[in-house]
Amino acid sequence: MSLPFVPVENLEIYCRFCDKITPAQLDRSIAENGRTVDRNSTFEYLCGKCLKTFCFSGKDLLEQPKSDTPESPPHEYAPDDHFLVGEKIFHKKWKESGIVIGKDKGSPGSILVNFEKSGVKKLIEDLC
Ligand SMILES: [Zn+2]
Repeated sequence: MSLPFVPVENLEIYCRFCDKITPAQLDRSIAENGRTVDRNSTFEYLCGKCLKTFCFSGKDLLEQPKSDTPESPPHEYAPDDHFLVGEKIFHKKWKESGIVIGKDKGSPGSILVNFEKSGVKKLIEDLC
């Protein structure tokens, strides 16, 4: 049994082809062909500039906010935690917040974060 999952429709992601941060949109055809989508599904996002697609696992995506939910506080960064693309994080040591714009698989994995002042930085996640 798994709960239905609807990821955010619009994301800012780092596009390897454009080599910059671009707005990306969820390819809705996946969710609309009658399949049950949950956290284990893979979702495709379309780069708004070059129209190439990017796949993300539902486990790595932020859920679409419900209109009556107030904005949650930023997720405090810790190397052993798991972060979601589109999520706002806060780095305690740098006293800066940023948005997760991409992921790199590996062990440990890493996230790309666009910080308000210092720009794009790579941080470790899922460190065990
Ligand atoms: Zn692109």
